Amino acid sequence: MYPYPYRGRFAPTPSGPLHFGSLVAALGSFLEARRRNGQWLLRIDDLDPPRELAGAADCILSALEAFGFEWDGAVMYQSKRGEAYQQAIERLDARGALFRCACTRKEVADSSLVFDGEHVYPGTCRQGVPPGRVARTTRVRVTDAIIEFVDAIQGNVRQDLAHEVGDFVVARADGLHAYQLAVVVDDAEQGISDIVRGADLLGCTGRQIFLQQLLGSPTPRYAHLPAAVNHQGEKLSKQTLARPLEASRAMPLLVAALSFLGQQPPPELARAAMRDIWRWARENWTLDKVPCRRSLPAPAIA
Ligand code: GLU
Repeated sequence: MYPYPYRGRFAPTPSGPLHFGSLVAALGSFLEARRRNGQWLLRIDDLDPPRELAGAADCILSALEAFGFEWDGAVMYQSKRGEAYQQAIERLDARGALFRCACTRKEVADSSLVFDGEHVYPGTCRQGVPPGRVARTTRVRVTDAIIEFVDAIQGNVRQDLAHEVGDFVVARADGLHAYQLAVVVDDAEQGISDIVRGADLLGCTGRQIFLQQLLGSPTPRYAHLPAAVNHQGEKLSKQTLARPLEASRAMPLLVAALSFLGQQPPPELARAAMRDIWRWARENWTLDKVPCRRSLPAPAIA
């Protein structure tokens, strides 16, 4: 059991404006937190300056406000958390859990080890960087770790990390800390008891639980919502040219997101005032109705 009261969060990456897929994650995590009388925190995952769009973080906060979301406490920014990530690296290193690696992305991709379309690190630098090569990244050594957890929506999840992922990067070649590390450090710092997010991140959860175990952080409970995909089956994102959330369409989009999440809002709710939509959502939200699917087609309005 997680040792603290319910605390959820929404952690968008400011690589572009929010879209319908982000609205689904924000709405699901918010409504579940409120249903459980918990807090809902906001974190801006601006860990990766090259991927950010100037002004996107502010634009995300205004969009959330315009859609009627209310978060607790101050917003956390990953860009200000470098020292905490470095301390975590040092703790992992002191445990002998890390090694330096000279492999480029291409070299890892060229190795024949693949699981479910993802490249598995072949262990090249595990015993030391080969002579003449320069260390680029820092990886965490994945010992025979079978990670199992019960996802509140997706059911039993089991991941054999060594065979499905391999040793993974915690500090990147460009000097930045990796998302897998940052998310674990921040969720622990913020006391997040429950992570409700898109199922496109389900494949990362094993790595995050593994890091929590190494760092001695409690493992939150997880609920992975179906991810919204376009006609081509691609996740909605800036890359797939997802339509930004516009405040002028807030009401029908909120109702569409409730439908997407299986909540069966009455058709007349689409014409209701924002306040009434939120009241209905808070009174009727139940996680049990969310479809047990990794992805679902986004509605036409998205
Ligand atoms: N920042 C991540 C994203 O926008 C989500 C992080 C998380 O929920 O763990 O995809």
